[in-house]
Amino acid sequence: MERITDYFGSLVFNDTVMKARLSPEVYGSLKKTIEEGSALDNNVASAVAEAMKDWATEHGATHFTHWFQPLTGITAEKHDSFISNTDEGVILEFSGKELIKGEPDASSFPSGGLRATFEARGYTAWDPTSYAFIKGKTLCIPTAFCSYGGEALDKKTPLLRSMEAISRQALRIVRLFGNTDAKHVDTCVGAEQEYFLIDKKIHGQRKDLVFTGRTLFGAKPPKGQELDDHYFGSIKPRVAEFMEDLDKELWRVGILAKTEHNEAAPAQHELAPIYTTTNIATDHNQLTMELMQKVAARHGLVCLLHEKPFAGVNGSGKHNNWSLRTDNGVNLLKPGDTPYENAQFLLFLCAVIKAVDEYADLLRISSATAGNDHRLGANEAPPAIVSMFLGSELTNVLCAIENDTPYSKTERMEMLFGVDSLPKFLRDTTDRNRTSPFAFTGNKFEFRMLGAPSSIADTNVMLNAAVADVLCGFADRLENCSDFDTELHELLKETIKDHKRILFDGNGYGDEWVKEAEKRGLPNFKTTPDCMIHLLDEKNADMFARTGVFSAAELKSRCDIMLDNYMKTVGIEAATMADMSRRQIMPAVSAYSAELVSRLDKKTASYRITAKYELKTAKRLSELLDIMAEKTDELEQTIDKIKDIEDVAEHSYAIRDRLLPVMEALRAAADEAETLTAEEYWPFPTYEKLLFSVN
Ligand code: ADP
Ligand code: MG
Repeated sequence: MERITDYFGSLVFNDTVMKARLSPEVYGSLKKTIEEGSALDNNVASAVAEAMKDWATEHGATHFTHWFQPLTGITAEKHDSFISNTDEGVILEFSGKELIKGEPDASSFPSGGLRATFEARGYTAWDPTSYAFIKGKTLCIPTAFCSYGGEALDKKTPLLRSMEAISRQALRIVRLFGNTDAKHVDTCVGAEQEYFLIDKKIHGQRKDLVFTGRTLFGAKPPKGQELDDHYFGSIKPRVAEFMEDLDKELWRVGILAKTEHNEAAPAQHELAPIYTTTNIATDHNQLTMELMQKVAARHGLVCLLHEKPFAGVNGSGKHNNWSLRTDNGVNLLKPGDTPYENAQFLLFLCAVIKAVDEYADLLRISSATAGNDHRLGANEAPPAIVSMFLGSELTNVLCAIENDTPYSKTERMEMLFGVDSLPKFLRDTTDRNRTSPFAFTGNKFEFRMLGAPSSIADTNVMLNAAVADVLCGFADRLENCSDFDTELHELLKETIKDHKRILFDGNGYGDEWVKEAEKRGLPNFKTTPDCMIHLLDEKNADMFARTGVFSAAELKSRCDIMLDNYMKTVGIEAATMADMSRRQIMPAVSAYSAELVSRLDKKTASYRITAKYELKTAKRLSELLDIMAEKTDELEQTIDKIKDIEDVAEHSYAIRDRLLPVMEALRAAADEAETLTAEEYWPFPTYEKLLFSVN
């Protein structure tokens, strides 16, 4: 019996390994780099590289790679072996230079025009704050990916910048509350990951799943998730084996996989790790998604990470649980025991409220993908409107502060000016609103808009940068005031007054909320093309410039890349639909209706008996076939017509307004035809088979 504690992190070059294998001087110097961001000395790098190579080869590694996260959203790697040819023969070698910097031939990664082709290489740089690990036979070194001009070409670089920005500003605030020993403030994240498991053989029979990760056709099965019998239900043996195997793989690479359970839809599951520093949480989530797919394949399964693999069934999201913690372990989003702690908590809370209100568009953008457009606002997913849930306790506290009224739970409390008069209150553990896209859950915020396949980097970049910027404004004001208590009280009051429109505790899935949100002036960006362009709005560009997270050129490139990604995704879907319709569905429907007609003939002509079913069905199927033929033509023509639109934004609008409606109409006709066609005629497995295939 292997014990978890024996193998947890066994494939990670972590602190324990470093301490054991590096000289005290080298270890100390590396530690300083990790904790304080000081530059790494060449000799230290060489010593670390040597130790890493020895450790990795002892664990079976033959290659190393700079592991990075280009803007495609997945991770990239280029493997080099450790071997080197010398006069004495082949030796294993890994230099400090190779550890610190790499030059992948990465000209095919998207750069949105940032990297002219003559300097197409860009370079990767070691991020010593995330541990190296072994995957298969390869030592993976987490790295950032930049152009030679220093522009970020990846997701990690801005994330590290945003973490630094928020640390700097949060430190200024805690200093004001008398914390003199904290050296930095970390953002922490726990990312809950939803996914579907489908039998591999059945999956392989559907071109839409193979090419696009979601079903482009499919009528609703007789049984869906109505009974809620899958949610937290007992886990099927084959799934349990997958989860057990996955946990082991994750634990070996040091990922704190904690809970595994079924989700609401049939075949849907969730994995949640224990939270950790945002940078590491992001790397771990990328690795988790990769390992999920690998382990699934070993079990004859396919792990679907698409945001909305099945129409009419719950989509898959990723919940980004976010908090702020000082390096001496104080969670700044936890209501405290003393008035001072509470005042500090309320200040951080108000900073998040203001940030989320002012930069709601950025949070929406961070979750915008072609796939998530189908998920947001449908079947138990948050709407596309960003709002914030606080719960009744906190809402009452804020209300009392705003109006200078007594806070009901503390009888003697008069809301006078000053820190001492701020109410003391209990942690709200009662209602947890599942319909809110951004909910306070006791000591952290949970952002629920992200789709399952997205990297959590973008969301945390937006959140960190926006909150850092607000904290900077708060600190400027409080550092220079003459009466801290009065100023603080005024600041809280003002912030609540100005930004309470973002607070909403009601049902986020209801239609009334859409109307109410509009009245409040909250943005409701339904699709990716609607929101993406706002990334470049002046207020956003200014905020990113102030916090040093993105330059204007970097923002523009990101906007272009995300829109390009949207266009390519929908483009592949449209082409796949046309193909499936023309070569699979229409021939099947045609064959079946012909079969019905020949039976009809036989019955009526030869035997003179009625054939109402055959007649009615054949008639309707023929009508549907006509619609499909027409829509398929239209789809192909539209693909052709819009493919040369140069401007990315214009192109994305054309997809939204001209392509997607045709796809929808084609699907509606095909789905109805499916319900009328004999099972053995249908050319690929239906929802029923897909959703109930794994036992
Ligand atoms: P659920 O949201 O399903 O009720 P939990 O609240 O227990 O589940 O936790 C969800 C995720 O939030 C887990 O990944 C957990 O580690 C993470 N989490 C818990 N506390 C914090 C915190 N202070 N900061 C960030 N993430 C946290
Ligand atoms: Mg959750």
